[in-house]
Amino acid sequence: MIDLSGIPVIDNHVHPWRETTRHLTIDELRGHPAFSDAVLTSVRRPYLPVDQLEPSLKLFRDTNLGARYLLGELARFLDVDEDWRTVVDARNSAAEADYRAWTDRLFKDVGIDGLLVDEGGGKPRITLDELGKHVPARLWRVARTDNFIRDLLLETDNWPRFFERYQRELEAAIADGAIAFKSVIAYRTGLDVQPVSEDEARRNFESNRQDLEHAQKGLRDFLLCHTMDVARERGMWMHIHAAVGDPDIVYQRANPAQLYPLLHSERFRANRVVLIHGGWPWVDEAAAIASILPNVYVDVSEGTLFGMPNVRQRIMEVLEACPYSKILYGADGSIPEALWITARRYKAVLARVLEDLVAEGFCNRREAVQVARLILHDNAVRMYSL
Ligand SMILES: [Zn+2]
Repeated sequence: MIDLSGIPVIDNHVHPWRETTRHLTIDELRGHPAFSDAVLTSVRRPYLPVDQLEPSLKLFRDTNLGARYLLGELARFLDVDEDWRTVVDARNSAAEADYRAWTDRLFKDVGIDGLLVDEGGGKPRITLDELGKHVPARLWRVARTDNFIRDLLLETDNWPRFFERYQRELEAAIADGAIAFKSVIAYRTGLDVQPVSEDEARRNFESNRQDLEHAQKGLRDFLLCHTMDVARERGMWMHIHAAVGDPDIVYQRANPAQLYPLLHSERFRANRVVLIHGGWPWVDEAAAIASILPNVYVDVSEGTLFGMPNVRQRIMEVLEACPYSKILYGADGSIPEALWITARRYKAVLARVLEDLVAEGFCNRREAVQVARLILHDNAVRMYSL
């Protein structure tokens, strides 16, 4: 049997968590692999009243196979009975005694060594310094540029000042050591980004600055294109959310295929881009784009955590045409247990998939381990010069 347990892991996409998560409720812990909980935990405007949603969300957590898998694996890891009360109590007592040591135990179990941290939308921003106090791993910042837009829109109604300050934010992130800019324009106006003139962006800014984001397409498309110019000129990677997600996603324009004209254009074809979340659930489309365009890479996060029962199919989809030097492992977790369970599941399934590919003559065992090493670790080291 191919054994991947000794391979170190760099997780290409996580979100930071606060030290207060050393104590979790049952629902908080088992909600992490349950996609349905995003309707409460990750929307920017309340979706429906919480008391109206809670009874259904409880049912959905109870009937989520990923949450059930987390329960069983954590119970075995903690050596306690397989029920949520017992598991959460044991987990909390370990984490409350020493959160860093508990996280270290989880990370060592699956070999997690480094994390690329997309700072998410939380305010105040959780910095790497803050995260590093309770997380024993190497950390790298991925600067979310939509946050700069969000904050600056509140601060000025003058276009030249706004744009100048946006550019300063990009420079500050580079000076801070960020290795990539991250765009979640799929949550704002969609991935069908059009390069527009600064004049058009200014007009959109002046008329729709205070509107809902959906009305700010010209402004946001212009800023993403500008950010990609800076990224290309300064050797930064671009991370672009290309997948479904929380309920406020612009679902009809979240398929990575929508990005193809931009990534293929002469202006941006030299940009080094990672499709974050590998297009999930359009994983085959993201993998196809990465196999066609030389500077586009695929991160497999999100489907790995929220689609744990079906990891096998997703691995096959990215491996079918995309060189394995272009595939980056990621979880999309935001607590240590989410990173742990995803890495555990992914390594186990990847080993079985590779076993089959060896049996079918695609590579030998030694090469199969090398495939896993690249996806789990070495591709990130090479791409980002870690
Ligand atoms: Zn994410």
